[in-house]
Amino acid sequence: MISKLIVYTVLFVMALSPAISNSNVESDPPGETSDPVVQIESEYKALPIDDYLKSPLLELEIGSSYSSHDYSNIAKELANRYPEIISYNTIGYSHDKKEIYSLVMTKNASEMVAKSDFNVARMHYYIEAGVHGRETVNPAILIKQIEDYATDYYKDSHIPNFNLQEILSKSVLHFVPLVNPDGHDLSKFGPDSVITPSAREMLLGIDDKNYSQWKANIAGVDLNKNFPDFHLDRQSGILEDKWQKYPGSFFSSVPSGEFYPGSYAGSEPETKAVMNYMASYDFRSYVSYHSRGDLVYYEYMWYPDSYRENALELAQITKNITGYRLISDTGKGSGYSTSYHVSISLKPSLTVETLPYNTALPSSNKTYLQVYKKTWLLPLYYEALGEKKGYFPYRLYSDGQYVRDFPDKEYAEAIASSIGGKIFEGSGVPEFIIE
Ligand SMILES: [Zn+2]
Repeated sequence: MISKLIVYTVLFVMALSPAISNSNVESDPPGETSDPVVQIESEYKALPIDDYLKSPLLELEIGSSYSSHDYSNIAKELANRYPEIISYNTIGYSHDKKEIYSLVMTKNASEMVAKSDFNVARMHYYIEAGVHGRETVNPAILIKQIEDYATDYYKDSHIPNFNLQEILSKSVLHFVPLVNPDGHDLSKFGPDSVITPSAREMLLGIDDKNYSQWKANIAGVDLNKNFPDFHLDRQSGILEDKWQKYPGSFFSSVPSGEFYPGSYAGSEPETKAVMNYMASYDFRSYVSYHSRGDLVYYEYMWYPDSYRENALELAQITKNITGYRLISDTGKGSGYSTSYHVSISLKPSLTVETLPYNTALPSSNKTYLQVYKKTWLLPLYYEALGEKKGYFPYRLYSDGQYVRDFPDKEYAEAIASSIGGKIFEGSGVPEFIIE
């Protein structure tokens, strides 16, 4: 049923020629586009969700009041309430010693997370939010999705077209709701939200004092410019570093509320937490929620056709569900979590910009339900697409253990030689260990 819906969705959009315009992902800009208006089929429209929003742990109507601490408490409470399908994992700490965590959603979650072959025992999908401080609506959206899916799983099967019991028995949804807790709290609550003296000192040393519009972390590093970035030079066969090689127009050379990439790629604790997490799993897709623009960026400038086709398919599904426009990357920007994920995996990775461009940030209460109604099913569509695609033929092993697969042989070989791994060709579910 689901795969038919997906095929239909893709064909429906493919029938219209996708007019792609150039823009720059780093600025959360309005973007120039001649993208055709796509009619969303009635079955993908927002559905009545009022009934199951009663007595929730997270209330969308008071979203603007939640701090990072509130979110981590709600996340822990979700894991306590639904331990069979939700595992709470601390993946790092911010400069201000605030917790960065993932919520792993799958059947027998804690047991599965502890298994050595978890990476191939089930298929994995990643969704993050809150990389930029002032984009405060999305952390709530992710936590609400988790609560909603859990409610469906245990109570009522209210979600149409998707069977959560079936999905969570074979797939794993990884949610990292708030990558940048310090920036989030600073934007919403001001400098009194800073807890540790060392973080306070970092913040006071920065000239920019426009705290409500803060995108960076507390050290003034724009985390979505801080991830490493590289691409394969086909002529030399070398993976070439492209981090800040083409900084573009949105750039700060000093710590600031936005656009400062850091002194080196991966310098920040928040960036490192996400990088380590990325390295641990073979994600079939990677999606980062930002605001604003009602846009979907799917970066493919530097990557081969085999990547571009998969990324476009994921982007088109997102567009058809949400009505957001598609924008491709100019290739000049770098350091995004999504482009780093493409660099290491060649797997479809999207930046989804929720909220119309003229919405004030940080987000007011009235925006939360509005975004939720557009996006609440997206992770389930991503899972359905991943399942339909299956595994790619070129599998990377390191010390005999499966790491991830690639759709492109040359790219896979370059990655393998960079880490001392080996590529094996295969079909179906990869072996976890190759002797
Ligand atoms: Zn952003």
